[in-house]
Amino acid sequence: MDWEAVEEAGRILREGGLVAFPTETVYGLGANGLDEQAAAKIYAAKGRPSDNPLILHITSMEELVPLAAEIPPEARALAEAFWPGPMTMIFKKTPLVPRGTTGGLDTVAVRMPSHPVARALIRAAGVPVAAPSANTSGRPSPTKAAHVAEDMDGRIDMLVDGGEVGIGLESTIIDVSEGVPTILRPGYITMEMIRRVTGRVEVDPASLGQMSPDAHPKAPGMKYRHYAPRAEMTIYRGAGPAVSAAIRKALARAKEEGRRAGVICTEETRELYEAPVKECIGSRAKPETIAHNLYDVLRAFDEEQVDCIFSESFDDSFLGSAIMNRLVKAAGHRIVECGE
Ligand code: AMP
Ligand code: MG
Repeated sequence: MDWEAVEEAGRILREGGLVAFPTETVYGLGANGLDEQAAAKIYAAKGRPSDNPLILHITSMEELVPLAAEIPPEARALAEAFWPGPMTMIFKKTPLVPRGTTGGLDTVAVRMPSHPVARALIRAAGVPVAAPSANTSGRPSPTKAAHVAEDMDGRIDMLVDGGEVGIGLESTIIDVSEGVPTILRPGYITMEMIRRVTGRVEVDPASLGQMSPDAHPKAPGMKYRHYAPRAEMTIYRGAGPAVSAAIRKALARAKEEGRRAGVICTEETRELYEAPVKECIGSRAKPETIAHNLYDVLRAFDEEQVDCIFSESFDDSFLGSAIMNRLVKAAGHRIVECGE
């Protein structure tokens, strides 16, 4: 790693500029989180709706105190268990946090990343770093520097290349600002892991279900189409054999209609399909491989210029719920239930 470049990037952040950098989840697009004007540049570079709030990134519990009006005991326990790491918590905000970074909300989202480059950068900046994923709003999140360059070339002051990220899916978001801790976005830290720490946890139904455009969900990002490849994508859900049969039928139909089709399959099922473009997303026996490859696979279909994408589905437990959350959004909720 070029640590001098990280120092330079810290200076750019402190002075109000934009820097893309690796974290353990996905690449982030950073700006000074206490400077509304700097944060406004993030929204402009991403084309992100301004009511979709940003997550502030810190490196120690001391840095949380000036941002959060209240740190409930359950939040302390979660921080102890999962920070630094891929978990974001929502707190009531202090006046120090400008509404320009919280989408106008009275709450603030905070995460303490574990990636050494992210940590060094935040320390070099000397301020909390607001950082959504470093992709154009709506596109798949970047898991490699090349993905960031595709979307952000010419729009940012610097890109710190830290190689491929580890996890490949955004952090788990937990609202600890009132009542029972509630998962707003599933991620690598699963409900089962959270329950072991806090004893109680709820899942916001909007994190999986359909959201109407005029709704006001707790995590405003939940209502937007997200992570989406350019082609129309459909998820086939049900028992394995029924799913593969339905996808084979859809492939045959696409061929007849002269549409170039892509399939999202797994190590276990790749032999079952003949398709113009076949992307193996990972192994069902190792869900973390699926999380890691997911966005790269979605971007690959854009490069291959397919007209339609047919995807298998995954069990909705543990890491599977985070994987399905991203796939369902990428598909704009187009799901076909496959019978026996
Ligand atoms: P991204 O930065 O693209 O990973 O998205 C950040 C997510 O965090 C968005 O879905 C936001 O809606 C959510 N978020 C950030 N701040 C808050 C907040 N104060 N309350 C609820 N959700 C938040
Ligand atoms: Mg994002």
